[in-house]
Amino acid sequence: MEEEKRFRACVEALKQGESLSREDWRVLLEGRTDERQEILAGEASLIRDRVYGKRVFIRGLIEFTNFCKNNCYYCGIRRGNQKAERYRLTEEEIMQCCHYGFSIGFRTFVLQGGEDAYFTTERLAAIVRRIKQSFPECAVTLSVGEREREDYRILKEAGADRYLLRHETANPVHYGCLHPPELSFARRMNCLRSLKELGFQTGAGFMVGSPGQTVDCLIDDLLFLAEFRPQMVGIGPFIPHRESPFCDYSRGDVKLTLYLLSLIRILLPHVLLPATTALRTALLGGREAGILAGANVVMPNLSPDKVREKYQLYDHKLTTGKEAAEGLRELKESLASIGYFVVVDRGDYL
Ligand code: SAH
Repeated sequence: MEEEKRFRACVEALKQGESLSREDWRVLLEGRTDERQEILAGEASLIRDRVYGKRVFIRGLIEFTNFCKNNCYYCGIRRGNQKAERYRLTEEEIMQCCHYGFSIGFRTFVLQGGEDAYFTTERLAAIVRRIKQSFPECAVTLSVGEREREDYRILKEAGADRYLLRHETANPVHYGCLHPPELSFARRMNCLRSLKELGFQTGAGFMVGSPGQTVDCLIDDLLFLAEFRPQMVGIGPFIPHRESPFCDYSRGDVKLTLYLLSLIRILLPHVLLPATTALRTALLGGREAGILAGANVVMPNLSPDKVREKYQLYDHKLTTGKEAAEGLRELKESLASIGYFVVVDRGDYL
């Protein structure tokens, strides 16, 4: 009974926008039961509906390069994976993706890739300018890893609206378990701060169930999100990749992922929260479950068919082989069946 009271008090405090202590977060995370999870999903949904209504935003994801100079232990496109078939799209190919995406209703394009030295800031800025010139009513989101503040400034000036850079874990020791020594937790956090200061709608995020992650790591993530208040948060279950050092670890827990989506929605009522491809890969119906847990964004793939299987961050990553238009029709139908609708809209942070 005492425990039930304590749990409810923490939920109430979270809903009231009070700042939760480490111990409060622990109560919420360790007290998870199926019943409570359902109740929190309901609360999160109400909050999302109050801010964004039944509208779900779509982002056209263009995975434009899988070259990467980094060697993150979890990632399938890490530099050390010699079996990865590397590709990069040309500017023309990227523009074709945008044209096609625009024609079927996308108003945000997300350029995501490995940290590929070919795409200098000048080259990227030129691409961003060209997209913004051709599609002035569209938003451009970049997700190209760590760069200098000055580079971020140039990309912002070129017209980029948003930037996704998951922090991966807010615990410095855990960060060191996921990354080789040449990658620095402090540097990643600095990048995030720069992006936000420069006026990007900024996305942080982390994998759920990455090797070495403990409840305390998740508490660090939630405390970080509460303090940093990003406009977007990307979370999905960790899924092993056969050619990575983490090949023998098991997948992250999808139920915990859904629970965290709900907590994050309640913590940050206005956040743009995607039901990620990793969630969908790990759970049949994961996209819909994500929406019902509080998410309000879906990021369908707009990359050309011929490269889709090559952007393998983890094993079995869902690629429908279908045309994006066909996938979009299915998305609309399945969201309609749970009471939500896809809108033709930039879907900015409110
Ligand atoms: N190079 C860019 C984009 C990274 S890929 C950057 O550094 O931001 C986008 C996200 O995929 C990563 O931030 C990571 O959280 C996620 N990811 C990578 N490998 C994964 C895996 N094995 N399982 C689940 N998610 C993974």
